[in-house]
Amino acid sequence: MSIHKTFPNYQLKSGWNALLPAREASPALGKELIVDVLIIGAGWTGISAARRWHSLSPEAGIALIDASEIGEGNPGRNSGFLLEIALAEDANPNQVEKMNLCNRLTTSTMAGILADIEDSGHAVDITKAGTYRAAASEAGLKSLQNYRAFLEAAELEYEGLDAAALKSRIGSGFYQEGLYSPNCYLAQPAAAIRALASLLPESVQLFENTPALKLVQQSGGWKVQTPNAVINARKLVLANNAFSKELGIGRSRLVAVHTYAGLTPVLEKSVLDDLGSDENWGLLPTHRLGSTLRRTRDGRLMVRAMHSYEKETPKEKVIDELQRRLEKRFPQLPNFDFEHCWGGAVGFTFNGGAVWGEFKPGLYVSAGCNGGGTVKGTLLGKLLAETAHGLEVPDVPKLFGQASWMPPEPFRKFGFKLAATLETRQGRHEL
Ligand SMILES: Cc1cc2nc3c(=O)[nH]c(=O)nc-3n(C[C@H](O)[C@H](O)[C@H](O)COP(=O)(O)OP(=O)(O)OC[C@H]3O[C@@H](n4cnc5c(N)ncnc54)[C@H](O)[C@@H]3O)c2cc1C
Repeated sequence: MSIHKTFPNYQLKSGWNALLPAREASPALGKELIVDVLIIGAGWTGISAARRWHSLSPEAGIALIDASEIGEGNPGRNSGFLLEIALAEDANPNQVEKMNLCNRLTTSTMAGILADIEDSGHAVDITKAGTYRAAASEAGLKSLQNYRAFLEAAELEYEGLDAAALKSRIGSGFYQEGLYSPNCYLAQPAAAIRALASLLPESVQLFENTPALKLVQQSGGWKVQTPNAVINARKLVLANNAFSKELGIGRSRLVAVHTYAGLTPVLEKSVLDDLGSDENWGLLPTHRLGSTLRRTRDGRLMVRAMHSYEKETPKEKVIDELQRRLEKRFPQLPNFDFEHCWGGAVGFTFNGGAVWGEFKPGLYVSAGCNGGGTVKGTLLGKLLAETAHGLEVPDVPKLFGQASWMPPEPFRKFGFKLAATLETRQGRHEL
């Protein structure tokens, strides 16, 4: 299977990246390097940390390494929902003050992402299209109710939709009930991360195809082994999400849960005419087992679903299951094959909290995206650089949670399997 111990090496290419023109990657690191700061992981979190670190210490020698290439790796594999407000899983109607502060932080981070994308001059498909949330089972309806209570308590705009209204907007009669919330952008994620990476200051050295294999603490800092060379850094930032545990940080708090996506070819106009009135929309499930859906502006459908623990599911099974999910939601679709199918790893923590802060002297970590780390990762990466500079920052563990302890293997794996079986039984109508 396709996972190297310390970094991801996916079996399938990112569909979003495949839709973009080819891009020349920065060279891999070939010789020993000495820097003030090394950042591992050039994703939403790592790029944000690198840019903020540079703005606070313009003279610092900063290197940013990634096991993959910008756009091809995990940051360009998501469904492209950039939420200005809390995910349904995080929404708590009983903690409105705290949630409002989180929402303010993520909303202003999103405004920064938009401004950055515009400054980059890259053509990125990104729109404030909002998002639907919809339920197809009792369990889904319960969590929809909780989310509605949160939106009301936080005085956030939304529109309630019955099954018929949803069907007329998105062309699917699969759901019993839903709501529409405008506080979400839909982006081509690989294009977005390429745009953000292009804004890295020249003095930040970017090395792609350069995985960190091992970290060693030494006097005056850290030594990091990569395939062809060693990097000596005074300070180290881990922004490699689930894989930080493979480098020894957050082992008792993080797991890599793989999830998968499929993107159809551009659909015929006659098919699109039968897919409701909205032409560019996204839908998030209210139940963890449900499927994320998108209709892209260029007339494709995307489905994101399924989970697997610590390793990828074979691609044939992924393609079959994703196809089945899409057909169930859109029985009117003619026979189709996905143009692209891929998977990615989510840094999952038991209680949804983050692994964030200074873990050892000079070692800073921001990991555990829990499936919603595009905007949140951008924020937490920036706050990590600020905290490393001794600046006063919002209380991240209090606001976004602190990852809780998980039992070691094999109990962890059994626990995950047991929870997945129970949830599958409870939410089978969402599958
Ligand atoms: C199919 C799918 C759909 C998703 N949909 C959404 C969505 O719509 N919205 C949302 O907010 N989130 C979504 N997520 C989660 C989303 O991908 C993450 O929240 C986001 O990418 C987190 O950003 P990050 O920079 O913290 O970490 P990542 O994106 O995981 O980036 C970590 C980087 O570290 C690199 N790396 C890992 N190990 C090493 C190593 N040892 N050495 C060097 N580099 C290393 C990786 O190559 C990667 O580039 C989805 C995830 C998947 C898989």
